[in-house]
Amino acid sequence: MPIDHKQPYDETNIFARILRGELPAKTVFETEHALAFHDINPVSAVHVLVIPKGAYVSWEDFSANASDAEIAGFVRAVGETARIVGAEPQGYRLLANTGKRAGQEVPHLHVHIFGGQPLGPMLA
Ligand code: 5GP
Repeated sequence: MPIDHKQPYDETNIFARILRGELPAKTVFETEHALAFHDINPVSAVHVLVIPKGAYVSWEDFSANASDAEIAGFVRAVGETARIVGAEPQGYRLLANTGKRAGQEVPHLHVHIFGGQPLGPMLA
């Protein structure tokens, strides 16, 4: 079910549980500020999610409320993850669904990295 991205942070969401080590994930990369892991239901040859370690519901919440260090650390982690999974140097796509209208399902900010294949004009 798509979520309302204006809701307060829900500590029980699935990515919060992954961050706490309560649920498994296939980790690709981890830093002080970010965790990258394979999507459980990949829709492209490379499909990885990168999440900040802080409690942010959405891109909106993160961009407004995270510190500069968290934002820089997260953005660098997205780039580094794309290099680690081999999406570089051929090119890749980043996506951050934000709120109900965009179909965001997990209420913890996540950036999708799609790659490893030609992607066409847009992924559905
Ligand atoms: P959204 O639609 O919110 O942008 O994307 C949520 C993504 O999280 C989906 O691509 C979905 O496959 C992925 N996902 C949902 N639950 C889990 C999980 O427990 N583990 C992992 N690795 N990915 C998940």
